Amino acid sequence: MLNVPSQSFPGSSSQQRVSSGGRSKVPLKQGRSLMDWIRLTKSGKDLTGLKGRLIEVTEEELKKHNKKDDCWICIRGFVYNVSPYMEYHPGGEEELMRGAGSDGTDLFDQVHRWVNYESMLKECLVGRMAVKPAFPKGMLPKSQVTDPLAKEGPSSPSYDWFQTDALVTIVIYTKQKDINLDSVIADHRHDSFRAETVIKDYSYLIHIALSHEIQEDFSVRVVENVGKIEIVLKKKENTSWKCLGHPLENHNSLIPKKDTGLYYRKCQLISKEDVTHDTKLFCLLLPPSTHLQVPTGQHVYFKLTITGTEIVKPYTPVSDSLFSEFKEPVLPNNKYIYFLIKIYPAGLFTPELDHLQIGDYVSVSNPEGNFKISQFQELEDLFLLAAGTGFTPMVKVLSYALTNIPSLRKVKLMFFNKTEDDIIWRSQLEKLAFKDKRFDLEFVLSAPTSEWNGKRGYISPALLSEFLKRSLDTSKVLICICGPMPFTEQGMKLLHDLNFSKDEIHSFTA
Ligand code: FAD
Ligand code: NAP
Repeated sequence: MLNVPSQSFPGSSSQQRVSSGGRSKVPLKQGRSLMDWIRLTKSGKDLTGLKGRLIEVTEEELKKHNKKDDCWICIRGFVYNVSPYMEYHPGGEEELMRGAGSDGTDLFDQVHRWVNYESMLKECLVGRMAVKPAFPKGMLPKSQVTDPLAKEGPSSPSYDWFQTDALVTIVIYTKQKDINLDSVIADHRHDSFRAETVIKDYSYLIHIALSHEIQEDFSVRVVENVGKIEIVLKKKENTSWKCLGHPLENHNSLIPKKDTGLYYRKCQLISKEDVTHDTKLFCLLLPPSTHLQVPTGQHVYFKLTITGTEIVKPYTPVSDSLFSEFKEPVLPNNKYIYFLIKIYPAGLFTPELDHLQIGDYVSVSNPEGNFKISQFQELEDLFLLAAGTGFTPMVKVLSYALTNIPSLRKVKLMFFNKTEDDIIWRSQLEKLAFKDKRFDLEFVLSAPTSEWNGKRGYISPALLSEFLKRSLDTSKVLICICGPMPFTEQGMKLLHDLNFSKDEIHSFTA
């Protein structure tokens, strides 16, 4: 049985509110927050029971440590003693015990591949798994003697390069048609160059230590109909290069996207504006040595070091306003990323974010997420159900749909908040509904003042069945839902009860 703290946790304003059933955060005992865990890891206490020694762990040994008070788990070849962490695990002890005495990498990746466990569990590190020799001495495993490209997945991409006096152009042939500027994420750091091209559920990597120096900025072009990408680097000196450079980890390989680690670059905080009493619009500037555009419906991870531990949290880019498509951008829009972020005074990460000064840096990852633009194909009715900052993925989805989908007849947003003061971009939303007749808007408040004339309460069958009316009986619909996990889970259940199919629903989760 888990201990539920006597105070009401999570508070009614907390994103950690727990619903009955479904995977959600579990109430933690008092003194067992992430911050408390960080403090414990800094206390100098021996958390592995090995007095700082690192050992080689055999499979037989790992299997023995399968009890709550003696629990070892292997993640990506490293073994951790997670017993001291049990009570701090937001998903609960039972969830952690699923990996007890075994390789928990797949389980971990399914639930939270983005969590920076190396940093959070570094004091629990027992050692590495002992590797069994899989091949007789002298024989190399096949993967080391053959082409490193995967044999399954999309047909193998390839690359080439050529040069002029001043430029070096890397050409990637993806052999796919649906490639655009969002598909390539490229970074130049010191003398290394890394370009990740997302092709369906795979990543094709170019990762090279360049043979000569280049200037900081570079450009990326895509020839969409043939799936060709050209990355144009500017030489620092006009000399002829004999080779592009030497390969680094995973160079020229096609790997499942879920197996590529998160790659971060430092972005500078340019501005921070109040949007509501607790939510702010943050503007970050990408370094000139990065090409990155976050696709509609995807999020990134922020990484900050908080009292010596790296903490990672997901955030969803928005545009600078709902009308940015219709006005001249003040800043060149492909270098700036905007985020609407709610600051939780008792939270771990957002107070740190809020304390950043203009000019400070935060590490931002490559985009992630399973929303696909193809879900919009031939779409006629788009319904958006958002609660609190669950509105953030809807911003780009809404703009994209209104601008790019000729078949679209109706977009409706039902936006759940506690009070009127909590509604993000209320006047912009109302203006948009006034300007674009295809867009309808409904606010639902759970704790309104007595003057509120609009809808009140929580997500419910009655609210949804009235709201989700197709414009034609045969309309192709998509319903997007996002908010606190229990809200989303309950909404999904109600949508299934209303006979919407899986393909007609998209829930935003990490
Ligand atoms: P936390 O430390 O997680 O705390 C949140 C609340 O829980 C606080 O009120 C805190 O008081 C309470 N709490 C925590 N632990 C305890 C405890 N032990 N006892 C009592 N109370 C406790 N958020 C945005 O604002 N904008 C976005 O664009 C955005 N995008 C997201 C995208 C995805 C895919 C996901 C999954 C989440 C997104 N989020 C977004 C949420 C974001 O990732 C963070 O969860 C959020 O910012 C809270 O972070 P925090 O560390 O400050 O708060
Ligand atoms: P909030 O203010 O706590 O809640 C917004 C509204 O939802 C309020 O009316 C609230 O009612 C209601 N609500 C909360 N829990 C509910 C539940 N279990 N059932 C029905 N209604 C519920 O929201 P927030 O603090 O902004 O949090 C937003 C959440 O969205 C966070 O958990 C964040 O992680 C998530 N998010 C996810 C993504 C993603 O892509 N996956 C993106 C952005 C945000 P009361 O307050 O009256 O209880």
